[in-house]
Amino acid sequence: MALERTLSIVKPDAVAKNVVGEIYSRFEKAGLKIAAAKMKHLSRKEAEGFYAVHRERPFFNALVEFMCSGPVMIQVLEGDNAIAKNRELMGATNPKDAAPGTIRADFADSIDANAVHGSDAAETAAVEIAYFFPSTEVYAR
Ligand code: GDP
Ligand code: MG
Repeated sequence: MALERTLSIVKPDAVAKNVVGEIYSRFEKAGLKIAAAKMKHLSRKEAEGFYAVHRERPFFNALVEFMCSGPVMIQVLEGDNAIAKNRELMGATNPKDAAPGTIRADFADSIDANAVHGSDAAETAAVEIAYFFPSTEVYAR
């Protein structure tokens, strides 16, 4: 088991639904620790930069618009296998395909408003964490 860090975002839909605490509780119950956290209303530029890998995709504009539509909660999660563990807790990208009991099955409304983001690999986790947090704001847990 590798001790890892991953970047998690509670998206505007889930912040608006007031389920930040319920989502944090799932992280904690799965053994993931919160190593950094902040609430932020992303600018268009910040959202475009964060999702730059998707800029050629047909849904890019909708995704950026949505991510700027209200404040998000951004956190670094730390723990054994944190990247895969968080992806498992999140469920499939489309909530229609998400396994019962996952965050997206329980809280997401659509493939656009799908409640959470989570890094998908070690390299992207490192880039995404650095995008939002200087190393002095990430605390070993
Ligand atoms: P994730 O890693 O599970 O979040 O999924 P991706 O990295 O593939 O896509 C990033 C985000 O773009 C997803 O969470 C969705 O909100 C959105 N997205 C992905 N695929 C589609 C799609 O086919 N249509 C729409 N409308 N949005 C999508
Ligand atoms: Mg992704």
